Amino acid sequence: MDAIPLVVCNLFVSFVLFVVYYRAMNKPQFEIYEKPIAAIATPLGYGGISVVRISGPNVFKVADRLISKKITPVSHRKHGNFFHTKVYDCQTGESIDDALVLVFHAPKSYTGEDTVEIQGHGGVIPAERLLNAVLNAGAKLAEPGEFTKRAFLNGQLDLTQAEAVCELIQSQTERAAAVARSQLDGSLGCKIEAMYDQIVDLSADLEHVLDFDEGEIADHFVEKTVESIESLNKSLQKMIDSWREGELLRQGALIVLSGAPNAGKSSLLNALLERNRAIVHSTPGTTRDILEESYSLSGIPARLVDTAGLRDSDNAIECEGIKRAHALIKAADLNLLVIDRHDTSTDKLSAIIKIFNQNKLILVLNKSDLSDSEALRVPQNIPSVSISALNGIGLDELKSIMKKTLGIEDDFQTQPVVTQRHLEELRFTQNAIEEVILLLKADITDIVIAAGYLREGSEALGRITGRVYSEDLLDNIFGKFCVGK
Ligand code: GDP
Repeated sequence: MDAIPLVVCNLFVSFVLFVVYYRAMNKPQFEIYEKPIAAIATPLGYGGISVVRISGPNVFKVADRLISKKITPVSHRKHGNFFHTKVYDCQTGESIDDALVLVFHAPKSYTGEDTVEIQGHGGVIPAERLLNAVLNAGAKLAEPGEFTKRAFLNGQLDLTQAEAVCELIQSQTERAAAVARSQLDGSLGCKIEAMYDQIVDLSADLEHVLDFDEGEIADHFVEKTVESIESLNKSLQKMIDSWREGELLRQGALIVLSGAPNAGKSSLLNALLERNRAIVHSTPGTTRDILEESYSLSGIPARLVDTAGLRDSDNAIECEGIKRAHALIKAADLNLLVIDRHDTSTDKLSAIIKIFNQNKLILVLNKSDLSDSEALRVPQNIPSVSISALNGIGLDELKSIMKKTLGIEDDFQTQPVVTQRHLEELRFTQNAIEEVILLLKADITDIVIAAGYLREGSEALGRITGRVYSEDLLDNIFGKFCVGK
């Protein structure tokens, strides 16, 4: 071989080796191929501490880069260890905060993965600086709900429990929190799982029967199966019936007070709130706009709204108030039509109740403390109650009728309260098992079709707890979470 090409060849190989070496040496110091996720887990605002949570592969390597090399690295620490340290930004070397670092080893963490939590000083800027340092050390920002999604995917929670986490965080009353808490403890998931197992057993029994000839299927087998499915149907119905209460707990109820001027709407609002919120005055039209207050009706969160009096008016501002009152009456979950029993004729009352949905209406006959006036005839098909907003007479009865009309049970602790998503799946299951009952009761029973319906029913229950899930379902559920949960 000629000497020149050999030299060229050697030079080329040396050049390639140099490039490889150079790139290796200058490789970004903190490159991590599978990054853990990180987010601020506490609300952004003034507070004592803020927590940055990091979870996933390589989390301990990331955490090691945040602390001094002179102390024991996080990767050498045991599960449950926590320690106080300075936290540094590994890219700038700047000391970011004094913090408490907590170490969790998989699967003994919220997500079921290796996790580190850093408790730094509270406040928006310190929390963001801490998070930035964690991202600079090799973590990536978590998606909304990603920690809980990982907890679900790692088998730490079922889907009903994961949903309960969101509901607990967003609960507005003690009762809403208690129901979410019990769901987080698995109350709903356990009930659904029990039903799932029951359907799977029934399905197995039916499939077993497929091995027999039609004539061989014993009557008592069919009877027993129908009985079991009917009892299952009752449990499903009970859960379906609890949906309304669950919905009110989550979304809150809109309760609208309306009626003629001076009927005592503002007085009633104040009496329900047990404080003076609205101006009470004998001059009609004092409340010209909408007054809204948060209210808890036996733990059901509600928006209590006092509207302008329903009457004809030439005053432009009052007219606008009356227009808004009509819109609210339409949107309300419950309307309290306040009536001054001494100033309202039966004809006037009949005319005014026409604008209401009568299933959501309570007639509140106010000023019961005054001497009886000419008898006012109240329609029997609409719930009514006599009260005195001024001295509180009849308020307890009013509250109990309000609960009844809204469909709220008093005994709530044991009641599973399902969401719209659960409701749809429960109804799907119910339809499927009702088909099975019809098939089994028919003269010629098609066992194959019946077993198919049972399978579909069990799959719908499986979608509630997450035994069966799709990416879309998870995106839908966890997309509603905040970042950091
Ligand atoms: P609104 O215009 O419907 O909001 O009525 P208000 O609450 O402002 O009350 C109008 C007037 O009725 C005020 O003078 C109240 O003190 C009076 N009032 C309200 N409720 C009662 C009640 O239960 N008994 C009596 N005697 N007066 C009441």
